[in-house]
Amino acid sequence: MHTGEMSVFPKISLKPEVTGYLRNVFLNKEVLAAVGPQEAESRFQKLLTCLSHPPSTTCVRASTHLAPLEDIRLSLEEELKKQQKCGSSAEEPSVQIAPHPRIADVLLLPVDGPRAVERLSSELVVDAQCGSAVLRGAHVFAPGIVASPKYMKAGDMVAVFSDLEGRCTRGATRFQGSKVFVGNGVAEMDRSAIFATETPARGVGVRMVDPLYKSPSFDGLLPSMVFLQNLPSVVVGHVLAPQPGERILDMCAAPGGKTCHIAALMGDKGEVVALDRIRNKIDRIRQNAQTLSLQSIKAFCFNSTRAVSDDEPTQEAEGPPFPPESFDRVLLDAPCSGLGQRPNMASTWSLKEICSYPPLQRKLFQAAVRLLKKGGVLVYSTCTVTLSENEEQVAWALSTFPCLSLQPQEPHIGSEGMLGAGLSPEQLRLLQRFSPELSWEQTDATASLTRRADTDTIGFFIAKFLKT
Ligand code: SAM
Repeated sequence: MHTGEMSVFPKISLKPEVTGYLRNVFLNKEVLAAVGPQEAESRFQKLLTCLSHPPSTTCVRASTHLAPLEDIRLSLEEELKKQQKCGSSAEEPSVQIAPHPRIADVLLLPVDGPRAVERLSSELVVDAQCGSAVLRGAHVFAPGIVASPKYMKAGDMVAVFSDLEGRCTRGATRFQGSKVFVGNGVAEMDRSAIFATETPARGVGVRMVDPLYKSPSFDGLLPSMVFLQNLPSVVVGHVLAPQPGERILDMCAAPGGKTCHIAALMGDKGEVVALDRIRNKIDRIRQNAQTLSLQSIKAFCFNSTRAVSDDEPTQEAEGPPFPPESFDRVLLDAPCSGLGQRPNMASTWSLKEICSYPPLQRKLFQAAVRLLKKGGVLVYSTCTVTLSENEEQVAWALSTFPCLSLQPQEPHIGSEGMLGAGLSPEQLRLLQRFSPELSWEQTDATASLTRRADTDTIGFFIAKFLKT
């Protein structure tokens, strides 16, 4: 465990049992035989470093169902220039926004960082989730603040730190535990307003003026035209390849990033059924659909392990459960241990928690296969790096459901599947695994924005099946 303040980013801090488990995954027998112990160890250590850093590009999905990509790019450029000019007397600001050469609805923006930022003496501490958001370009929202200087007033300059292990008591004035500096900002509220007990503060608490990683804030920026989404998540929608007029099921849909992408790819023609088990997350799906002017999405709160029923459907039922073979395509973007998410400087998860996911994923997968029509496509994805939630699930699926076969993916931007689950080289080639790589560790120092965007991603996994 790390103690005290650190000027340089540490590797992700995990419970020792989790580090040991992951080490066994990345140094499994098949990998060791293929690349040798040194290379396997080096890849594992790089992964641990990479996970605590944010990706070096920001990816936004453009609403190309509403306007041409170039028009959206120009509007975004305009807005970002205004954002940069605001409060600065500098000459004409420069904004770099590039279309992705292989994904028609993606725009890429470089992230500037880690920057050399001199930290101020007055310290404010935010929770780890807020700290990660700041590293990806967000300002500090008041509910994320856990400690601030005793007499802090709106307008004061502060150094912002992220509490790595969630040990800081809310309302503290100082914090000596594990924390990482994420940049300097200016308070937008007095301390008394931030920690008011009767009406908890909302909105921006600290505006970041000198962040460690600089990327535009997308808060309220062209909400109907651009949607912040990690590149592998956008790839999922294209791999599913929904067609206008089809009926699609998104089994674990909230907050609806992929649901909305699916509807957009279909030109909003057809039906996209979005399910999620958590009631208050359903509103997020509906809000996102409304913001993006998508009418074809129907969202329901439902446990998807029970989404298939052999009972005769009632005439008026439009929601779950559904009869078998109801859908042309199914997306199972499964609940997972999330170990590919970046930046993640510390995880307090136990091994038991991490190992609770594969059985749930299999139950969901079984329902997915039953709900899919013959000739239909099933895409399984996770944002984690373990074998047990990825390649081992594919091996299990192929042996449990002879009706399923692996399909090539388009686009295939990530690497192939990882060795260790007994899959053949042909099967591994059909899988898509995004293994994060830090762009500043890439051999080509001038790596293009696209190369950085394709490789310096969150950890992610995609498998595409056809049911025959
Ligand atoms: N696909 C989403 C997107 O792109 O915005 C992200 C989905 S997230 C990886 C997994 C989701 O699965 C969570 O929102 C969680 O509430 C939901 N979930 C977990 N168990 C579920 C179940 N049994 N049935 C339906 N949803 C479930």
